[in-house]
Amino acid sequence: MIFESLSDKLQSTLSMLRGKGKLSEKDIDLAMREVKLALLEADVNFKVVKNFINTVKERSLGSEVLNSLTPGQQVIKIVNEELTSLMGTGEVKIDYSKKPTVIMMCGLQGAGKTTTSGKLANLMKKEGKRPLLVACDVYRPAAIKQLQVVGESIDVPVFTMGDKIKPVDIAKASVEHAKKNGNDVVLIDTAGRLHIDENLMEELIEINDALDISEILLVLDAMTGQDAVNVAAAFDERLKLTGVILTKLDGDARGGAALSIRAVTNVPIKFTAMGEKLDQIEVFHPDRMASRILGMGDVLSLIEKAQSAVDEQKAIELEKKLRTQSFTFDDFLDQLEQMKNLGPLEDILGMLPGMNNKMLKGINVDEKEFARLEAIIRSMTKEERQKPEIIDISRRKRIANGSGTTPVEVNKLLKQFKELRKMMKQFGNMGKMNKKKFKMP
Ligand code: GDP
Repeated sequence: MIFESLSDKLQSTLSMLRGKGKLSEKDIDLAMREVKLALLEADVNFKVVKNFINTVKERSLGSEVLNSLTPGQQVIKIVNEELTSLMGTGEVKIDYSKKPTVIMMCGLQGAGKTTTSGKLANLMKKEGKRPLLVACDVYRPAAIKQLQVVGESIDVPVFTMGDKIKPVDIAKASVEHAKKNGNDVVLIDTAGRLHIDENLMEELIEINDALDISEILLVLDAMTGQDAVNVAAAFDERLKLTGVILTKLDGDARGGAALSIRAVTNVPIKFTAMGEKLDQIEVFHPDRMASRILGMGDVLSLIEKAQSAVDEQKAIELEKKLRTQSFTFDDFLDQLEQMKNLGPLEDILGMLPGMNNKMLKGINVDEKEFARLEAIIRSMTKEERQKPEIIDISRRKRIANGSGTTPVEVNKLLKQFKELRKMMKQFGNMGKMNKKKFKMP
């Protein structure tokens, strides 16, 4: 998990302050020394760390903290605010004012440019936009094909002219194509290099000069730490970036790049990516990230995730079914599906307040159990799902065989389902009673 060790260290240092009724300058000094070490170990740029510590210390020594009844809490609040401001001022949105909105994606090879272009297109599509992906990496033979595969899997068109045409000409043609075909966003996947390279920069500048570009987004591999920060500074100097997308946060336990990029380059982080799947991208919110680091949870992101994963119409229908007690195994399957849409359970739990890394490790989330339940339900016939009471011994055996489980497991699920229905019946009755009780005269 990202920020794992930083998060643990900050939380244990700050929890020492929390319990104290009064804080002395020495207490704050000691705590700040620990915070400083934790940040340096997380590979945060040393100048950034120095400024951060100075600011937090100065604010913590102010009279409103030392005289407060809960000085420790106040210091934690200051750390939270300063961590937030390191990473930005708030969500920085994509500028969609131009039609079409042209976005140039750039970055070094392997940073995740092509994958992330696909993720962005996917995200925009969900927001009701009609993106067009453009293959401008003409040097790597597999790059065009890779983008086409990505586009196909998310059902977004990919514009290509093969690898014999100059990238700037492909880019120009793609915008014309977008205008003709009603695409309101053009995402240009440019070529990468292993290192920053003059030819590459010139090519990007040429595309930037030739088109009316709304955003230049740099894709950076968070796992490369301070190298990512240097790459961001170099690209920004030549191209004036409008934002950064940090990828591979799932593999970056330290988080140094995330904490330094904005402070060093002044370029905002706009999105973060945490995995190879095409829906593993999130809008970046500095305040929520700071809260997550300090173990204060990220309830807002959790709610947004739930809202995007849960089908509202289905929720209304389900509520009705619960009331009328016509809940079937098909509905149960639906529920399991929606749970899966939320992503790995571990990620979800990590967003809850008070959840730290140790607790997460202690919880053994058995995702296989879900898969088993699903297999059992899928092995039932339509009739069995609607009327589970018809499932006798021989049917039970058949379902177990079909799902690769045992009749005992099938039986267990049937029992649980029966309990669930019984419980709902009680809730339903309670609802009726309440209505009676509070009936208006
Ligand atoms: P490009 O050369 O910059 O276009 O990079 P690609 O899009 O081809 O990605 C390089 C590799 O990184 C691929 O194997 C991707 O699946 C992987 N990748 C991209 N983004 C992420 C991410 O957020 N997390 C993880 N774990 N892998 C990623």
